Amino acid sequence: MNIRNFAIIAHIDHGKSTLADRLLELTKTVDPARHDDQMLDRNPISRERGITIKLAPVRMSYHANDIEYQLNLIDTPGHVDFSYEVDRTLSCVEGVILLVDATKGIQAQTISNAYKAIEKDLVIIPVVNKVDLPSAQVEATKQQLVDFLGVRHDDIFEISAKTGLGVAPVLNAVLDQIPAPASQAGDGSLKALIFDSYYDPHRGVIAFVRVVDGSLAGGTKLKLAVSKIQFETPEVGMFTPDLIKTQSLNAGEIGYIVTNLKDIHEVRVGDTVALVKDDTGALPGYKQVKSMVYASIFPTDTADYLNLKKALEKLYLNDSSLEFSAIYSQALGAGFRVGFLGLLHADVVRERLEREYELSLVLTPPQVEYDIRDGQFFEPMVRILIVAPQEHMGVCMRLCEERRAEFVSMDNKNQITLTYRMPMSEMIGDFFDALKSATSGYASLDWEFDGYEHASADKLTIMINLEPIEEFSEIVVAERAQERGGELVKKLREVIPRQQYDIKLQAQYKGKIIASERIAQFRKDVLMKGSKVVGGGDVGRKKKLLEKQKEGKKKMKMVGRVEVPKEAFLKLFNKSS
Ligand code: GDP
Ligand code: MG
Repeated sequence: MNIRNFAIIAHIDHGKSTLADRLLELTKTVDPARHDDQMLDRNPISRERGITIKLAPVRMSYHANDIEYQLNLIDTPGHVDFSYEVDRTLSCVEGVILLVDATKGIQAQTISNAYKAIEKDLVIIPVVNKVDLPSAQVEATKQQLVDFLGVRHDDIFEISAKTGLGVAPVLNAVLDQIPAPASQAGDGSLKALIFDSYYDPHRGVIAFVRVVDGSLAGGTKLKLAVSKIQFETPEVGMFTPDLIKTQSLNAGEIGYIVTNLKDIHEVRVGDTVALVKDDTGALPGYKQVKSMVYASIFPTDTADYLNLKKALEKLYLNDSSLEFSAIYSQALGAGFRVGFLGLLHADVVRERLEREYELSLVLTPPQVEYDIRDGQFFEPMVRILIVAPQEHMGVCMRLCEERRAEFVSMDNKNQITLTYRMPMSEMIGDFFDALKSATSGYASLDWEFDGYEHASADKLTIMINLEPIEEFSEIVVAERAQERGGELVKKLREVIPRQQYDIKLQAQYKGKIIASERIAQFRKDVLMKGSKVVGGGDVGRKKKLLEKQKEGKKKMKMVGRVEVPKEAFLKLFNKSS
């Protein structure tokens, strides 16, 4: 069998999914008449936002030079939160199409994903996309590919994934340049690498695999090399992109295995599928996914707690990177602390909870998690890569330096690439927004987790009338305590309504009050005016008003003996902070 396994990698929005559509048409895998954009993006949020958040495999067959080829394509997500999906994909293929938007030039994920492919020794087919657009800068983009990634000028293809111009030669390059999967020198005993999985309510977990050696068919007794879990598969098959049953899956192929297992977390991505009877060790695995930011989620209506729990459990079935545990807040009731891969992941999860499960939520701003050992704080660090036009170098460097970042390296050709090491907490705030606006949208950013660093940090405690309020308190580094404390009490002053007594808002750090605000009580004439309205009306109206007041009271949360309306939490947390 002439197999070619390949992926499309690019910066977000450079046209991966569009090119995948053209390849599906060219190979007649789908009927061009049944035209449906972004055929591999079946996640509704993916579609709506035009971003791919899950990798998507598809098998195509293609007849060329009197040879029947089996092409396995994996479309990858471009957003940095999901870069782990790219890592997994690249372990399953022999080559990649590296796509660059000619109106944008190379951007941060172009470089970081290309490096991943280079590290894995994959064949890279460089392609410049969107040449149909008047603003396309084809030559300059080619030059960047030569300068930054060392590809040969003459090897670069020019296409429009939208119109299909130049796509056929790229497909031929896939056949010619990407090698067939190497026949393993192994003993033919089954080894299949799990690169993704999802939960099907009727068939249990479905594992996506690349068969590295051996073969398997429905009815085979299997085990997972790392977790040692055993199961018998009722069915194996391929992606068209729908799941289609096949007789068997053989060495070099990409397909799926129905496991019947009920918990997606038993089928760990990176684990190896082997025969029960064999003594097969695990293939070199992938790194474990790690939650990078955490937020607390509460239902706006406390009666929705169980619905929220069920919704999270459902999402968890299909999202093995989601992490959550129950928490209780005095002010907001029962909720969950949830771990995410990044801010986009947090946003996608929140949106799904609200939209698919019709929940109204209070979500605290996502924060990093400090590692606390023997009373010492260690903060998570990231290595960031910024790509921007030369004229923006100064402003990019200044923004990094304002955020406790340490310079690592720089490359300066017709674009600059800057590498810094930076505390994650500095990056998840408004760093990306600031970078974008300082460079008129030209800078792009990529990051990866880079260990922990000792930090002079402590808990910043927010107090309302001398009572500490957990929901508003957070760990911050000493350099940021003053700024953050001041910001929080100021915001609270704006969102908490006046009461019949003074309210004192304070921020305490390392035993000292570092910021405070006061909300003065109602002035007399305000109350008078209010009572006049009530007094002036008829009895029915008066009663109604009183009832309304009572209703409002119920919505209030007693925080530090001060009534804080739930709307205040919403206002506080929904504002970017
Ligand atoms: P992805 O994030 O890499 O998957 O990018 P998409 O395939 O979703 O494309 C992003 C946007 O660029 C979409 O609006 C596409 O219609 C558009 N696009 C992709 N390729 C081309 C092209 O060759 N020409 C033009 N004009 N637009 C394109
Ligand atoms: Mg896409």
